[in-house]
Amino acid sequence: MATHAPDALKILGKQATYDEMRILGAFQYVYSDVFLHCDKNLMPKNPAAWTAWNFLGAMDNKVCVTYWLNVLQNLCETGLPYLVTLNPSHTPEHTLLKWSTGHPFPSVAASKASFELDHIQGKRGIWFCGAYQGEFVSLLLDWDDVHSVDFCLWRGVFCDNVTLSVVSLNLSNLNLGRELSPAIRDLKNIRFM
Ligand SMILES: Cc1cc2nc3c(=O)[nH]c(=O)nc-3n(C[C@H](O)[C@H](O)[C@H](O)COP(=O)(O)OP(=O)(O)OC[C@H]3O[C@@H](n4cnc5c(N)ncnc54)[C@H](O)[C@@H]3O)c2cc1C
Repeated sequence: MATHAPDALKILGKQATYDEMRILGAFQYVYSDVFLHCDKNLMPKNPAAWTAWNFLGAMDNKVCVTYWLNVLQNLCETGLPYLVTLNPSHTPEHTLLKWSTGHPFPSVAASKASFELDHIQGKRGIWFCGAYQGEFVSLLLDWDDVHSVDFCLWRGVFCDNVTLSVVSLNLSNLNLGRELSPAIRDLKNIRFM
């Protein structure tokens, strides 16, 4: 079943086993609106700055990116460029197509589930595959006191060597999103986040 994990569960319906529900159910998705269009306003203002991937900003925790298909797909010169934008703030002009798609969202639950996939693969003639099995889901695996009680060794956590209190948190390059836990207030000695 080469669908997103929640869709695989929907297709299986009541026939899903307990393990399939437990493991596939741990993968959550964030959904983006995607537009195929020719609106140059959704590219950098300076044409010299145009690249294959163009980050335009973020709103409501959703990243807005425009892909320049002429470059990515080796399209020959076209009058207007062919562009794909995720999460634009408004409907682009010259929109040719709109759809919505989901991306698996990294979490500790997803990390744990990814190590349990063998429990459900091929067990009753059904094999599952999809982007939710990518390596990204194990990003936060060490953020789990079952695997490591020493939080100073967790990815992106930096502690003061003497007091062993957290002084810095840097997860900026992991493409994470969503709300911060209120427990962050308990990190009294934090100086950088
Ligand atoms: C604009 C854009 C650019 C991207 N660029 C990159 C990139 O440069 N590099 C990269 O690594 N990734 C990129 N991605 C992400 C990549 O495309 C996805 O991660 C990948 O396609 C996900 O694969 P998947 O098999 O999990 O899901 P999908 O490719 O979404 O496949 C799921 C399939 O399940 C089908 N389906 C759903 N419900 C049912 C049903 N009930 N019955 C039967 N079939 C069903 C859907 O129609 C779909 O074909 C990009 C995504 C987008 C939208």
